[in-house]
Amino acid sequence: MADKEPLFARVALIGIGLIGSSLAHAIRRKGLAGEIVVQTRRAETLKRAEELGLGDRYETDATEAVKGADLVILSIPVGACGPVAAEIGPHLQNGAILTDVGSTKGTVVSDVAPHVPEGVHFIPGHPIAGTEHSGPDAGFASLFEGRWTILTPLPDADPAAVAKLTDFWTACGSKVETMDPEHHDRVLAIVSHLPHIIAYNIVGTADDLEAVSKSEVIKYSASGFRDFTRLAASDPTMWRDVCLSNRDAILEMLGRFSEDLASLQRAIRWGDGDKLFDMFTRTRAVRRSIIEAGQEVDAPDFGRHPEIAGVNVKDGD
Ligand code: NAP
Repeated sequence: MADKEPLFARVALIGIGLIGSSLAHAIRRKGLAGEIVVQTRRAETLKRAEELGLGDRYETDATEAVKGADLVILSIPVGACGPVAAEIGPHLQNGAILTDVGSTKGTVVSDVAPHVPEGVHFIPGHPIAGTEHSGPDAGFASLFEGRWTILTPLPDADPAAVAKLTDFWTACGSKVETMDPEHHDRVLAIVSHLPHIIAYNIVGTADDLEAVSKSEVIKYSASGFRDFTRLAASDPTMWRDVCLSNRDAILEMLGRFSEDLASLQRAIRWGDGDKLFDMFTRTRAVRRSIIEAGQEVDAPDFGRHPEIAGVNVKDGD
């Protein structure tokens, strides 16, 4: 624990999977809480969190966990946020900050806000950092370092509470930006949700193919397919909820994607090499910009450097 007063006296982590456990590590490492209370619904997950020493106190009952906490963080699937907020709402401490880490924001706001009592600051959030792994073993303290966290405060949010939550994420290593929930959902639809849906689809298509055997798909996967399988290995519950809760923005982006794919298909059919070359040149420049922005390293990844293979951060959820 650091010498100075921690930012929060008691942090309640509701959900202790990849994101919750990464928060637990980061909070501990930076001395951000006087006490960490870990809550999860299943006894086996809680037991594992305890074995890993992620908290100071452990609860399966969310209402017990949030009592007296000045920061409550929901790190559970977005579809579960509404029901859990209804359960904990009456037990939240006056003046507490309630936030979440969900990958979509519009439905989290509409599902959670009605259950937040007056005097509690509800400030939705989303760290743009993740991996394809789940559960309490998957977390690590540096997950948020150098990554963006987006806060989507409601119009009447208390600036002091927003500033305090910004300080929290900054201390966890994040860069913080605020935007409205609708804009967040449109941006994330293209940078995260669509890539995952495309990955799920291409891996599903390959799995269904009869002309190519499954063993060949696996054997020759390093030629490109393998990179899609990493995204397609992401948690099915989380991604089901993302698709259901960001339906409109995802459908809009899928519509645009399908049009552009048809245009690419036409270029291939008509042997329009110039069009293909121009497009592939433009997309290569996008990757260079991402590297320049420090959101990816410039290491050759198709061959997978063994030293970075174990920490292949996905950064996109
Ligand atoms: P995870 O590793 O699968 O952990 C999920 C946690 O939520 C577990 O503690 C689990 O409890 C609990 N949970 C599952 N279903 C629940 C329900 N119906 N009611 C209450 N609790 C439930 O998930 P995660 O990857 O940390 O994701 C958590 C949130 O972070 C999601 O909203 C996701 O959109 C967001 N997010 C994820 C990533 C990523 O890359 N994974 C990145 C950014 C944001 P039990 O094990 O006890 O069932």
